[in-house]
Amino acid sequence: MADKKWVYLFEEIKEVEAYVNGSWDAVRGLLGGKGSGLFDMTRAGVPVPPGFTVTTEACNAFQAMGNFPTGMWEQELEALKKVEAQTGKKFGDSSNPLLVSCRSGAKFSMPGMMDTVLNIGLTDRTAAGMVKLTGDERFVYDSYRRLVEMFGEVVLGIPDEAFEEPLKEYKAKKGVKADTELTAEDWKAITETFKAVVKKYKGFDFPQDPFEQLRLATDAVFKSWNGKRAVDYRHATGIPDDLGTAVNIVTMIFGNMGWDSGTGVAFTRDPSTGEKKMYGDYLLNAQGEDVVAGIRNTEKIVNLEKDLPVAYKEFMEITDRLEKHYREMQDVEFTIEHGKLWMLQTRSGKRTAKAAVTIAVDMANEGLISKEEAVLRVTPEQVDTLLHPQFDPNAKVQAEKAGKLYAKGVNASPGAAVGQAYFDADMAERMAKEHKQDVIMVRPFTKPDDVHGMIASKGILTSEGGATSHAAVVARQFGVPCIVGASAIRIDLERRLMEVDGKVVKEGEWISVDGTTGEVFLGQIPTTTPNLEEQIDLLTLLTWADEICATPGIRKAPQGWPTRGLQVWANADYPRDARRARSYGAVGIGLCRTEHMFFEQERLPIVQRMILAEDSKVRIEALDELLPYQRSDFEGLFEAMNGYPVIIRLIDPPLHEFLPSEEKLLEEVITMRVKGETKGLDEKEKLLANIQAMHESNPMMGLRGVRLSIVMPEIVEMQVRAIFEAAANMTKKGIVVKPEVMIPLTGTLTELKWIQPRLVKIAKTVMGEKGVNFTYKFGTMIEIPRAAVTASEIAELAEFFSFGTNDLTQMTFGYSRDDAERNFLVTYVEQGILPKNPFQTIDRSGVGRLMKMAVEEGRKTRPDLEVGICGEHGGDPESVEFCHFIGNNYVSCSPFRVPIARLAAAHSALKHKGVGIAEDK
Ligand code: PEP
Ligand code: MG
Repeated sequence: MADKKWVYLFEEIKEVEAYVNGSWDAVRGLLGGKGSGLFDMTRAGVPVPPGFTVTTEACNAFQAMGNFPTGMWEQELEALKKVEAQTGKKFGDSSNPLLVSCRSGAKFSMPGMMDTVLNIGLTDRTAAGMVKLTGDERFVYDSYRRLVEMFGEVVLGIPDEAFEEPLKEYKAKKGVKADTELTAEDWKAITETFKAVVKKYKGFDFPQDPFEQLRLATDAVFKSWNGKRAVDYRHATGIPDDLGTAVNIVTMIFGNMGWDSGTGVAFTRDPSTGEKKMYGDYLLNAQGEDVVAGIRNTEKIVNLEKDLPVAYKEFMEITDRLEKHYREMQDVEFTIEHGKLWMLQTRSGKRTAKAAVTIAVDMANEGLISKEEAVLRVTPEQVDTLLHPQFDPNAKVQAEKAGKLYAKGVNASPGAAVGQAYFDADMAERMAKEHKQDVIMVRPFTKPDDVHGMIASKGILTSEGGATSHAAVVARQFGVPCIVGASAIRIDLERRLMEVDGKVVKEGEWISVDGTTGEVFLGQIPTTTPNLEEQIDLLTLLTWADEICATPGIRKAPQGWPTRGLQVWANADYPRDARRARSYGAVGIGLCRTEHMFFEQERLPIVQRMILAEDSKVRIEALDELLPYQRSDFEGLFEAMNGYPVIIRLIDPPLHEFLPSEEKLLEEVITMRVKGETKGLDEKEKLLANIQAMHESNPMMGLRGVRLSIVMPEIVEMQVRAIFEAAANMTKKGIVVKPEVMIPLTGTLTELKWIQPRLVKIAKTVMGEKGVNFTYKFGTMIEIPRAAVTASEIAELAEFFSFGTNDLTQMTFGYSRDDAERNFLVTYVEQGILPKNPFQTIDRSGVGRLMKMAVEEGRKTRPDLEVGICGEHGGDPESVEFCHFIGNNYVSCSPFRVPIARLAAAHSALKHKGVGIAEDK
C-alpha cells in the first residue's frame, strides 16, 4: 500500500485516466466532482490555481483504519513542493508564503454538507511576512482571523457563536455595523481574540505550524464525510455512503486584495427559469464565503463588465467554453486577484424542474445534445413538480387587496406553498412528521444543519441571503417552493414570531409563499393546478418522449409482442377526466370504473332499489332506469376519446358499498325503538335485515367482480347494452369507437366461459339493432394470483389483460389494501422488512413475477394479447419501467400522472434499448 498513489496534481489527468481505465465516471469517482472539474479545466487551459487532490480512495482507507493510509501524507508534502515550484511561493515561508485552501468534494455534489478551510498556512510569522509583501495589513489580518475562525469551527469543533459573539461585541463597542468599516488594527485585535477563543475551548494554542494546519484540515474534511448533516443529506438524496470525499488542496487566490479583486458564483443559464443568460452574483474586494453568506449585498454578474471589463470578457469566454465542453449548464466559482481571473470550480448546476426542462429542450435545439439526451436529462419526478399546484391568480389579487401581501423577497424556487410558520428546522420537522401539519420553515437564513427541516417543509422563507444562498440552492434541488432575502421581515427567534410594519405572525400561524414570484401572504390562499398546455417546453419534451416510445424495435421482443415502447393510457371515469387525459397525452382509457357513476345523487336510490329488489321484474325495471344514465356517460367517454381505445370495466365492488352503513342503520333502529317512534320503523328494519343478510366477513374477497356478475347477471347485461348502444350512437355521429369490455376479478377460465358469451351476444344484438359495426374486445383484469398462474387458459377467452395491481398486491401479499398502511406497512418499510411500499411501487420479485408469468403464458395462447396495467402503480416511474420489461403494451394511470408516465416510458425505452424482454433481473 505504501507505493499506492493517493495524491494527484491537477495536471496529472492522464495518470488518473490510466489508473481508472479511461471512464470519466470513474475519474469523478476517484477525484470527486470538484476535483475532476479542476483537473479537466487545467487540461483545457482554463486558468486554475495550482493544486492537487487527495483521492476518495484515501478517504475510504481513512474511514476504514481511522488514520491516514501509509504514504498519503508524504505524497501530500511532495505535491505541495511541486505547487511551491509552480507558484514561486513557499509554504510556511515568512518572506513569500504559499497559502492554500483545503476543500471537500465528493463524486456527487453535496452543497455545504462537508467542510472546507481557507487561508491555510497563515501563522503569526507568515502573516507578518505577507504584510511586508503586500503592504496590506488589513487584508492579511482579515484573512488570518478567518483562518482561525474556520479552523476553530471546522477542525476543532468550536461552536460558531464562540467567534461570532466577540466579533459582534467588538463592533458594537466600536460603533460600526459593517465588517468593511473595520481597520487593520481591528482585525489584528480580533485575530488575537479568536486565538484566545481556541485556547479557551481546546486548552492549546492555535497551531503555528502550517503543516500541522494542513494535516488537521485534511483529517477534518475526511471526517466531515460522516458528519450528521452529510449523512442526512445522502440519505435524503440517495447518494451511497461508501463513495467517500476527495480533498482538494488549492493555492489561495485572494479576492479581497482591493477593488481590482473580487469573487463570485454564477450559473451559465438561469437555474430558476432555464433562460439562456449568465446568472450569478459577485463582490469586489471579498472572499468566497462573503458571497454565499449574504453578509454584503452582492452585485449582479452583468455589472462586472463595468467594474473589471478584461476579467469579465475572459470569464464569459471561459464559461461558454465550459458549457460547450460539458454540454451541460455549469455552476462556476471564480476569483479575481488584481484583475487576473481564476476559475475555482465548475460543475453541472442544480436547477429547478422548470429550468431542467427548458435547458434540455434549448440545448437539443441548439444542437448541443440529442433529443434522447434531452429526454433523459429530465426526471419523471421533475415533471411531477411542474404539475404541482400554483396559487389561484384571482385569489392572490383579492388577498393583496385585502392587505394580506406581507413581504416580498427573491423568488428562489418556484411553486405555491401554504402552511403554518415554524422558526427552526427541528420544530418544522417535528410538526410536519409527528403532527402531519403543512409547514413553512421561516429562518433568517439557513445552514446545512437545517436541511432536515427544509425537506420536511412545504415551503421555505428566509429574510436574508440571495439567489445562490444555501436556502435557495437546497430548496431548488428538492423542489420545495422558496423565497429568500425577504428583508422587510424581522424574525424574533426568542419570542417565536416575525413582524413586518407591526403585523405579527406567531409561530403556528398560516402563511402562503409564492416561490415563483417571491411574494409572502398572510393566511391560506387557494391553489390551482397548473395548465400543461401553457408549458411549451415540457410539451415539446413529452412529444420527443412519445416519438422515442413509438420507435419500432426499441424493445427487443418475441414474435407478436410489442417492439415499440410503452403507450400511456389513463384511468378515467367521466368524460371530463377523459378530456383531461387526452390533453395530457393519454392515447386510451385503461380503466373506467363504472360503479363510480352509480354513486351520483340521482342514481343511488335507483341502484339501491335494484339491489334490494325481491324479484327479477323490479330489478330489471330499476336497471332500465339506470341504462340511459350509463349510456350517456359512455357516449361522453367515446366522444372524448375519438379514435382511441376505451376500456370499460363492469361493476366490481361488493353491493353493500351502495347501501347505508349497517352500524348506522342499527343505531337508528334502536333509537327509534327506545323512543317508541314507529313512523318509518318498518322500512328501516326491513332494510337492516336485508343489509345484514348481505354481510360478509371479508367483503374484498367476497361477492364482487365477476362473481357478482354470475350471481346477478342483470347488472352487467344492462352495462354491456349501455356500452354498445353508446358506441353505436357515437359511430353514427362519425366518432371512431374502440370499446373494450373488462371483466374484473377473474380467477378461473370457467368464470369467463359462463359470463363472456352472454355478454358478447348482447353486444352483437345491439349492433344488429342499430345496424352499425365496429371492432370491440372482451378481456379481463388480472388481479388474483390464480388468474396470473393460469393465464394461458384465461387467454383462451380474454382478448386483453389488464393488471389490477392494487388487488393483485393485496391478494399476493395477503395485506388488506385498506388497512395495511395504517397498521404495519409503514413500520415494515422503516424497518427494512420491505424495501418500498408495495402498493406504490410494484414488488418485482413477488407480484411482478406473477405479472411476468401472466404475460408470457397469456401470449403463448394468444400472441397478440393486449396487456396493460391499471392499478395505481401505472403512474409510478419504477413500476412503469417494470411494465416495459415484461412486455406490456401500455400503462394506465390517473390523468394527472400521464405526463410523468410518458417520460418514464421513454426513459425505460432508452435505458434498456436492445435489452430483451425477460432479460432483466
Ligand atoms: C386494481 O385492483 O388494481 C384496480 C385497478 O381495481 P380497483 O382499484 O378498482 O379494485
Ligand atoms: Mg381491483
